[in-house]
Amino acid sequence: MSKLALDGGTPVRTKPFPAWPAFGEEEERLLLEVLHSGKWGGTGRVKLQELEDRFAALQQANYAISVSNGTIAITLALKAAGVGHGDEVIMPPYTFIATATSALLMGAIPVFADVEADTMLLDPAKVEAAITPRTKAIIAVHIGGCPADMDWLAAIAAKHKLALIEDAAQAVGAQWKGRAVGALGDAGTFSFQSSKNVNSGEGGMIVSNDKAVADMAWSIANVGRIREGAWYQHEHIGWNFRLTEFQAAILLGQLSRLEEQTALRERNAKLLAELVGDIDGVSPMRRDPRVTLHANHLFLLRIDPRITEKASKKEFLRRLSAEGIPVSAGYVPLNRNKAVLHEIRSWTGEDRLDECPICEHACEREVAWLPQNVLLADEEAMHDIAAALRKVAGSF
Ligand SMILES: *Cc1c(COP(=O)(O)O)cnc(C)c1O
Repeated sequence: MSKLALDGGTPVRTKPFPAWPAFGEEEERLLLEVLHSGKWGGTGRVKLQELEDRFAALQQANYAISVSNGTIAITLALKAAGVGHGDEVIMPPYTFIATATSALLMGAIPVFADVEADTMLLDPAKVEAAITPRTKAIIAVHIGGCPADMDWLAAIAAKHKLALIEDAAQAVGAQWKGRAVGALGDAGTFSFQSSKNVNSGEGGMIVSNDKAVADMAWSIANVGRIREGAWYQHEHIGWNFRLTEFQAAILLGQLSRLEEQTALRERNAKLLAELVGDIDGVSPMRRDPRVTLHANHLFLLRIDPRITEKASKKEFLRRLSAEGIPVSAGYVPLNRNKAVLHEIRSWTGEDRLDECPICEHACEREVAWLPQNVLLADEEAMHDIAAALRKVAGSF
C-alpha cells in the first residue's frame, strides 16, 4: 500500500479537473447581440422567447417560463398549482434548503419524508405515510440529476388528489423511461445558478404541460399581467421575477453544448460507478433502470460501514481530498435545520420534527459528492478517482 498523500506520499491525481463554468464563442457573440439590441430586460423577449422555446422542447413540455432563479421557480410552481398558506407540502430532507424555503415563502408547510438509503431520493412509501388532510402537494427532488420514482409518486399524487412538482434544479436534460423530467407531474422547476449544469450565474425555469398552471406562473412572475393583456392590466397579485435578455443569451450558448456534455458525463459516470463497485469500502448509488438519462450533476458515493464504523466521514474525505480528488460532504438534513423548524413553528404554532433516520445517518456517516465538472474530464481521470478511492479505502 503506497503512503497516503496526507502522510507525505504522492497524491494519486495532480492534474486539475475541467474548470467550471465552461463557455465559448457562442456566449460571447450572443451577449454582444443583446448589448447592441438595446433590449436588455425581461420584457424585451427576443432571446428569452428563443430560450423558452428551446427549453420546452428539451424538457418535452408544452410550456416553459423563465424566472429569476430556481428558488422562486419552485414557489411559483407551487402557487400556480394551487398551493397556498397553511397547505402541507411533502418533500425529501436530502435537498438544497430552497426546496423548503420556496414553500415557506408563501406560508406553505414543508413536511419531510425520508429518502431511500441506496439512492438518496424521496421514498414514495414514506410520502404516502406522511399524507394528512392538509397535504396539498409533493415535491420530488431529482437529486444529483437522478430522476426520482415518478411512476410511483404520480400514482400517489393521483390517488390522493395532490399536486406533483418536480424540483429538477439539478436534472436539466434528464429522462425517466425516455421522457424528459419537469413536466411529468403538474410542473417542474430548474435552476441556472452558477454551479448547475446549465448556468447563467443566476436564473430559473418552470415547465408544465398544463396551460392554466403555465399561464398562472407566467402571470405571477410578470407583476400579475396576463399574456395577451394590456401593459397596466394586472389580473393577479404578482411580482417581477423575470430573467434578463443577457442571461437568456448565455443560456442559449450553454444549451448548444448540453447534449454533448450530458453524453460525456453519462459515459464517465457509468465507468466510475463500475470501477467504484469493485472497491472494498465504497459503493455507488443504485440506479433504477427506468432512469434512461441521468443529468449527473453530482456523483454520489457511499462510504461503507466497514470504514465508518472505524473512522469519521470527515477523516475519509480529508484523506481523499489530499489525493487530489475534489470531494465534498454534501447536504446536512433539512428536517433538522433550526431556521426551517423555527419558520414552520411561526406559521403553524406547533413544534414539529419529522424524523428521517436514513437521511440523517447518511449525511452524518456515509454519503459524499463529486461535482459534475469532474465528469467532464477524460477516462483516465475516472481511473485516477477510482485509484484514489481504492488507496484511501485501503488505509482504514
Ligand atoms: C440549486 C437548487 C435550488 C435553488 O436554485 P437557485 O437558482 O439557487 O435559487 C433548488 N433546489 C435544488 C435541489 C437545487 O440544487
